[in-house]
Amino acid sequence: MKITFLGTGTSQGIPMIANNEPVCLSEDPKDKRLRSSIMISWGDVQYIVDCGPDFRQQMLRENVQSIDGVLFTHEHSDHTAGIDDLRPFTYQMGEVPVYASERVIENLKIRFAYIFATENRYAGAPRLQENLVPKDLFELNGVKVTPIEVMHGSLPILAYRFGDVAYITDLKTISDHEKQKLVNLDILIVNALRIAEHPTHLNLEEALAFVKEINPKRAYFSHISHRLGFHAEVEKTLPENVFLSYDGLQITV
Ligand SMILES: [Zn+2]
Ligand SMILES: [Zn+2]
Repeated sequence: MKITFLGTGTSQGIPMIANNEPVCLSEDPKDKRLRSSIMISWGDVQYIVDCGPDFRQQMLRENVQSIDGVLFTHEHSDHTAGIDDLRPFTYQMGEVPVYASERVIENLKIRFAYIFATENRYAGAPRLQENLVPKDLFELNGVKVTPIEVMHGSLPILAYRFGDVAYITDLKTISDHEKQKLVNLDILIVNALRIAEHPTHLNLEEALAFVKEINPKRAYFSHISHRLGFHAEVEKTLPENVFLSYDGLQITV
């Protein structure tokens, strides 16, 4: 299984528009972060988790020639605003399968009404095949996928476990019941926003405590803001099995 970090930044990315704080001015490529998303591949299939406003740029940068579907964690724009750019894949496949909770699909139907229209459809709109994520384990091309409900402040959202790899973004809290789905992980990818506390995201200290509790073989932090600090400096402070992700990073398990 191969994971490609398409983007590792928080909702506004790094650098942030009209912001001159030190990390936004950094020339280290690892301090430039597009909106968070991963591509997860096995055999000859690849799925995308979330499709934010930088999706087009991410597909071009990684030279992605085909995808097998998109799984959404939640409806926020930094995770969904690139949906129109699925169009080139719909030319290849007819319909791109998308997976989301019922609430997220309903939200997308309001915000992207032209994509889901059944009458007088604009011929240029992307064609998506809607799939509701089941409550429990499901299978995608031979890999078991476990949806995990996490709390993004007061909003329940989804995380996904693919085999022994879990991708969790925008987490603030998680129930003990859902934590049970995270035992024996090879790789845990989880959000670590910044140093200061935040009402809807884990900060660095909380993310480290979460990793300690879940105890995966390796952990990678993502959904990072410029207020976490410079990549190179923060990474030096982390335990030996914990890393900051960066755009373009690929890991294999
Ligand atoms: Zn987000
Ligand atoms: Zn969010």
